[in-house]
Amino acid sequence: MLIEQGNNLTRVKRSNQAAIRRLVYHYSPVTRGQLASELGLTMPTITKNVNMMIQAGVVRELDALGGESKTLGRKVRPIELVADSRYFVGVEMRSTRRSVCVTDYRGEIAVYRIDNNLLVDYQENVDCCCRMIREAVEASGVSWEKIYGIGICVPGLVDSGDKLIRKNSHYDWEMRYLAKDFAAGLGYAGEISLENNASARAYGAQLFRRELLNGVTSFAYMFVSSGIACPIIYNALPDYGVAVGAGEAGHMVMDPEGPLCRCGNRGCLEALASEQAVIRSCHRAVNMGQAKTLSDICGGKEPSLKEILEAQEMGDRDVEAIVDTAIFNLALATANIDNLTRPDVILFEAEILNSQRNRDKFMEITDKNVYAGTADRTRFEFLPTDPLSGARGGAAVAIRVNLESEII
Ligand SMILES: [Zn+2]
Repeated sequence: MLIEQGNNLTRVKRSNQAAIRRLVYHYSPVTRGQLASELGLTMPTITKNVNMMIQAGVVRELDALGGESKTLGRKVRPIELVADSRYFVGVEMRSTRRSVCVTDYRGEIAVYRIDNNLLVDYQENVDCCCRMIREAVEASGVSWEKIYGIGICVPGLVDSGDKLIRKNSHYDWEMRYLAKDFAAGLGYAGEISLENNASARAYGAQLFRRELLNGVTSFAYMFVSSGIACPIIYNALPDYGVAVGAGEAGHMVMDPEGPLCRCGNRGCLEALASEQAVIRSCHRAVNMGQAKTLSDICGGKEPSLKEILEAQEMGDRDVEAIVDTAIFNLALATANIDNLTRPDVILFEAEILNSQRNRDKFMEITDKNVYAGTADRTRFEFLPTDPLSGARGGAAVAIRVNLESEII
């Protein structure tokens, strides 16, 4: 009986603290009165929790606002989160690139490491990431006691509860308990979280891009790389949501007669519009003696997306046709996702949409296929390409876990 009561008290304490900390995180600077009315908690509960957080250095009081508190006749002093009170490690692990960063509570990167070597073997990847984490933490000068969590993201289907990679069709990384393997590799006893790398990016945007998402209650994050994914986040505070579904937009079938996808089906969006699909089509064109400009740039070898976009810029018509097909399919899929879910904002991280010409083309096709009145139109935001967006997303995953679970 007593144990049960103890558990309940802990649960209430945790959920109150988590709710307060989430609001402070998202709305800083904020007053105790705003917290009380927003959360429906009493002022004594708010004051007690806030005082504990101030003592622990997680939040601090700011100078008094102009107005006076009506009831107490004292100046109202808002509180804000102390960004450097906690540090986190974010990791993105892919066979083609591993990236690691050490960030503060606000996602400001203190130190980062990027490794672009091709590593397919799972254990080699884990070992390499652990080495990079140790190096980055040491270089940051942040002591391990101040690292409050590590967030790792990988492509494919992951079970973030069991911290398990369930399915990964790029390489043989299936049914791997990733967090356990990192804990062993690092000798780290703190919290290690796991998330899909597109969902992690969405969480990164939710936490660190307040200027884009302020007041927004739902958004989607279209991530185009060697695969394509589009997690959708319901963003309503105070419970701020989670990514809905698998977000596997890449395996939406666009053309049942289309090219074979690595999942085994035909004509998936990924087989038509991912970076890999564009690279493959361009390489084939070069091998067939077409795409002369690109052929000169890449010397007959498999071109990179950067080289392809350069050839397009220089007027290579064959490359332009391939890029346009990818954009057409990407735009159709986006319009379908928009029609189905109608989020407030869709964020795009897609190198192929970096140029104004490609973006205009993309907008022209989505405009034609989105079913909505002008006033209901979803806002599209194109994010600059950032090699650290995945690692930073990993840090966001770790921060979300911390906001939910740490009891002071
Ligand atoms: Zn597929």
